[in-house]
Amino acid sequence: MSIETTEPGAEVIPDLDSQEFWDRAATGATTFSYQVCDSCGNQQFPPLALCRRCHAEELTWSDAPLDAVVRSWITVNHPIYPYLVDAVPYRVVLAEAAPHLRVLARWRSDVEPSLGLPVELAIGPGEAGPMPVAEPKADAS
Ligand SMILES: [Zn+2]
Repeated sequence: MSIETTEPGAEVIPDLDSQEFWDRAATGATTFSYQVCDSCGNQQFPPLALCRRCHAEELTWSDAPLDAVVRSWITVNHPIYPYLVDAVPYRVVLAEAAPHLRVLARWRSDVEPSLGLPVELAIGPGEAGPMPVAEPKADAS
């Protein structure tokens, strides 16, 4: 996966939990990195210092294909931050990249999302910096 940005000044500012994800994304790999809990097997994204399910500290990085399917979506009409005033309305999809691995991603298409629609994940531009984005697979729209 590569990191694609278009807006000037927007850059990734990783924290301790997300540094590994951004390092992996910057390599141009064709996978989406996520954490797997060594204790309970929970798969999680975004990355955290602890397992979201059992709070274990031992997490291992793994990679899923960029292929995913839409499991849900919403249209955001209310700008919760001032920098989103010009962005609304916009859509956010919950995309399943691997069994039990769901990623919130900005929808990047004029095509209406639908349940089970095949999509491809990427890191694309967002108002506050790079973020997960999803668009329909070329053969699905
Ligand atoms: Zn766990």
